[in-house]
Amino acid sequence: MHLLCSKSRINSISKSNTVPRLELEAALLLSKLVARVYRTLKVKLNINNVYLFADSQICLAWLNTQLTRLQAYVANRVKIIKELTGEFVWLYVNTKDNPSDLISRGVSPQDLAACKMWFFGPEFLHDSEYTFKCILNIPNDLPEVKPAPMLASHVTSAEKSVPDNIFERLRKYSSIHKMTRVLAYVLRFCNNIKTEKPRLHTDFLSSNELHQALMLIIKYEQSNQFKDEIHSLHKGQSVKGKLISLNPFIDKTGLLRVGGRLHHSNIPYLQKHPIILPKNSIITKLIITSEHLKLLHKGPTLVLTNLSQRYWIINGLNEVKKITQKCITCFKQKAIAAKQLMGSLPAERVTATTRAFIKVGMDFAGPINVKLSRSQMSRPRYPDVPSGQ
Ligand SMILES: [Zn+2]
Repeated sequence: MHLLCSKSRINSISKSNTVPRLELEAALLLSKLVARVYRTLKVKLNINNVYLFADSQICLAWLNTQLTRLQAYVANRVKIIKELTGEFVWLYVNTKDNPSDLISRGVSPQDLAACKMWFFGPEFLHDSEYTFKCILNIPNDLPEVKPAPMLASHVTSAEKSVPDNIFERLRKYSSIHKMTRVLAYVLRFCNNIKTEKPRLHTDFLSSNELHQALMLIIKYEQSNQFKDEIHSLHKGQSVKGKLISLNPFIDKTGLLRVGGRLHHSNIPYLQKHPIILPKNSIITKLIITSEHLKLLHKGPTLVLTNLSQRYWIINGLNEVKKITQKCITCFKQKAIAAKQLMGSLPAERVTATTRAFIKVGMDFAGPINVKLSRSQMSRPRYPDVPSGQ
């Protein structure tokens, strides 16, 4: 292994570029040099793989990011780099193992002449067991990247084709099940017109289709109600406001979930990280109503406990109480029969002036057993004898 050629460029004093931008310029310079050397060597040598090393994680992250998400300055350079080095592999190298750092930091000619790393490369490349693989920690707050769109970046191809006004139209339904079914059919239609594969024409909806539709409805509601929080999370910033205590995060499908402190527990994922539902939302109300009906009109505590296994409703108990208190069936069941106000007692009973046992009454006969029919047992009856006083 030996140094073949190198190239460096001095940064212009007039342009005040950021360090990541300068690193990107260096990567561009390397790409141009490597492409030229590769074209020359390919004529006489059989080259299988080409590995390019950079010590800037931001620069490598940009190379792994979609061009449409990068801002113009970075996107233009990344595009050229990809065109020149599309079939080569970019890898990360530590600064201390990077020979090009000698030039960046400056080195005397005597030291450079005696420097092994400069002429023969870093030590790890001489290790016969070294494997070329990229261990890269992509920074969360990658600079010069456009913020991801609220909804579209996290939805599948079928979901992307659903226009926003569909969700507004769905709000007219008073049942989450009906809403889900309608959207599931819309998603199926969108899938069927786009795909070349055999189309789905069954009369029934699969549980997967229904689940996908429900999650999409919730995702849309979250993107409306937690706009700022989702925006902060996409930018890699911490959330402020009412959700701060929940330590929320956005999952692979784009749903906002509770982060919480149960990450290492054995309970199911849905209980560990329930989906956050906003308060004062039509979707939340419909989900609570559906659970209340499913549990045969049970009380607010039980409804909330069942919902907590999948959802985290902001101000949950109050939201559930709002629904259960308005339920007509529950209202009828809880109704108490009206009690009559008793009238005043007759004067004889409240104005007794005589002594006890002055007036005495007695029955002339006790109960007599009467058999009403063959099938019925005899029952005690009292004869119609007036009691005397
Ligand atoms: Zn009820």
